[in-house]
Amino acid sequence: AVLVARRAAARARWRRAVALLREFEEGCATPPARLRQVVDAMVVEMHAGLASDGGSKLKMLLTFVDALPNGDEEGVYYAIDLGGTSFRVLRVEVGAGSEIVNQKVEIQAIPEELMGTSEDLFNFVASTLKNFIEREDGKDEQKALGFTFSFPVRQNSVSSGSLIRWTKGFSVGDTVGKDVARCLDEALARCGLNIRVTALVNDTVGTLALGHYYDEDTVAAVIIGAGTNACYVERTDAIIKCQGLLTNSGGMVVNMEWGNFWSSHLPRTPYDISLDDETQNRNDQGFEKMISGMYLGEIARLVLHRMAQESDVFGDDADSLSTPFILSTPFLAAMREDDSPDLSEVRRILQEHLKIQSAPLKTRRLVVKICDIVTHRAARLAAAGIVGILKKLGRDGSAGVASSSGRTRDQPKRTVVAIEGSLYQAYPVFKEYLDEALVEILGEEVARTVTLRVTEDGSGTGAALLAAVHSSNRQQGGG
Ligand code: BGC
Ligand code: MG
Repeated sequence: AVLVARRAAARARWRRAVALLREFEEGCATPPARLRQVVDAMVVEMHAGLASDGGSKLKMLLTFVDALPNGDEEGVYYAIDLGGTSFRVLRVEVGAGSEIVNQKVEIQAIPEELMGTSEDLFNFVASTLKNFIEREDGKDEQKALGFTFSFPVRQNSVSSGSLIRWTKGFSVGDTVGKDVARCLDEALARCGLNIRVTALVNDTVGTLALGHYYDEDTVAAVIIGAGTNACYVERTDAIIKCQGLLTNSGGMVVNMEWGNFWSSHLPRTPYDISLDDETQNRNDQGFEKMISGMYLGEIARLVLHRMAQESDVFGDDADSLSTPFILSTPFLAAMREDDSPDLSEVRRILQEHLKIQSAPLKTRRLVVKICDIVTHRAARLAAAGIVGILKKLGRDGSAGVASSSGRTRDQPKRTVVAIEGSLYQAYPVFKEYLDEALVEILGEEVARTVTLRVTEDGSGTGAALLAAVHSSNRQQGGG
């Protein structure tokens, strides 16, 4: 009788785990109709953000980038790319005829202890650049410098702007409100370097620049890495909040800061609310917290933790599941169905990383399913964001309505979106889910006109190219 009772109890616990899974799955559901609502909400917020500062959670920041590299650039340029877990220093040599003849990238981790004062951080960046230049060129000739800074910045010009707030867990006390280009310039001067920031750009803008350098149909760029964001080329007359703004091209790149997008149509679960509570930027970056690499593993961890508490499917040794951020996104990405029939990689990660010893196959399947739900939702929401941009640009197919004769349609324009970021690049299934959702929302015919093009090191390389475009020395060969 004891045995029977025990079995019944175990079955009840399993049912509880499955119920939690179903509930989570329903909460995360993104059927096409819902994605379309997200698309429309995105377009509405884009208009609102362009109309006035503070008009929307979508900041729609001006970049003052009114010209993108087109292949005429020549010379040697440097760039610094700061804003993820590592930062990059680049030397980019461009030759005539749209060719990057030589490129050197150095990747460094930012030492934890430098996340103290703004001065420490920028001194570190400046001295790394100094060592790099000395190694590469011997002396510091006056070259243009592109500075990729992957956080929301209110720009005053193409080469200056102040940090609005940190995101992605970054926090260097006294930097908010400061002109980060000036901070870097001062640090460069302290190092005895002659070089100064020529172009201060968001990583999305750098990515757009490199995309456009290779393909002039590139009109937008998306980052899906530790954080997520997008930028695109807007007509200046549509940027209502700065009426009278004139540019030679009639357009300007707008940094959407879509990570902060919010809409009641987003499929938010109790786990998303718990995640938000754990972060230092509560109530901000809501879209980012559903999509980007910084957070996906943690969402799954929160679901697993609740399951462990309410169902004990992980046995008694699931304590590690109570540790925030212990399940990083690369682990989430590795726990997949196609691992092997017995999901041995899942077992390994559970055992070695989460110290969960007893997870039979059916429990491992549960884990895989949770990870997949998180990834699936993220990729599909990113797709909805992209379609939002296409729609704002009139490139989602809805503008090409039947003509008066009812027979012909506008030939849809080819549209290229440059895309980059650790999550998108290292995680094939994310890309698959994203592509699938694009087709669902746009329909096959229109989806075929849209190319997502992966750029490699675009955010940094593009910043170097923008430094070239915006340097007054350009006519003398960028030297
Ligand atoms: C930042 C954006 C950045 C994105 C991708 C977000 O957290 O706010 O400025 O483009 O991450 O790096
Ligand atoms: Mg980056």
